[in-house]
Amino acid sequence: MTPITTLPGQLESTDQLSHEERELIEHEGDSAPYSKEGSESDPMLRALTRSLLTELGEDPDRCGLVRTPHRVAKAMRYLTSGYTMDIEKVLNGAIFKEATEEMVIVKDIDFYSLCEHHMLPFFGKAHIAYIPKGRIVGLSKIPRIVEVFSRRLQVQERMTHQIAETLMEYLQPHGVAIVTEARHMCMMMRGVEKQNSVATSSAMLGAFKEPQTRSEFLALIAGKLS
Ligand SMILES: [Zn+2]
Repeated sequence: MTPITTLPGQLESTDQLSHEERELIEHEGDSAPYSKEGSESDPMLRALTRSLLTELGEDPDRCGLVRTPHRVAKAMRYLTSGYTMDIEKVLNGAIFKEATEEMVIVKDIDFYSLCEHHMLPFFGKAHIAYIPKGRIVGLSKIPRIVEVFSRRLQVQERMTHQIAETLMEYLQPHGVAIVTEARHMCMMMRGVEKQNSVATSSAMLGAFKEPQTRSEFLALIAGKLS
């Protein structure tokens, strides 16, 4: 096999490559960010993907598809890894005693999820606020909590509420507010009307049920909302 050199950013036609060479390229970096598990893991998911390919009228043994069941299994495990994440471990050591009672806001948290009706992606941004009552959480943990609930089969409304309720439970603050905005591939790709529309969902708990506090939060994230 001839060595293949690809400069960063250089587009290379893979048409002329042998199957092994193509595999080498397509598999570069496959170990991250997916799991470290070996290529022979997840036999059931691989078998199911192979059946799916056949059922769709494809030939699962053709060059480009031979490793597809393996890749799909890895991708699906990663995209649904929220099922095996443990909130306690995510928050481990990152909740601190703090007297402040000022609203904390984290805006523009990217998330990627899969709609449970079509198993197609929906993705967008979450804007989250809470008003502490003696406890704060490390800011980097808030996007991690979003991952726990986005990396699984979801509906946007439930995901939004689960994130809010988790923050309420672990921080016991005066209140939690969250707005999520998302584009749903199941709408966009299937040509459902208003393909470019953004779905917005929100949860307002505790102090954010009060109109004044809620408006303050919405004003602070305004301009972020599409
Ligand atoms: Zn859907």
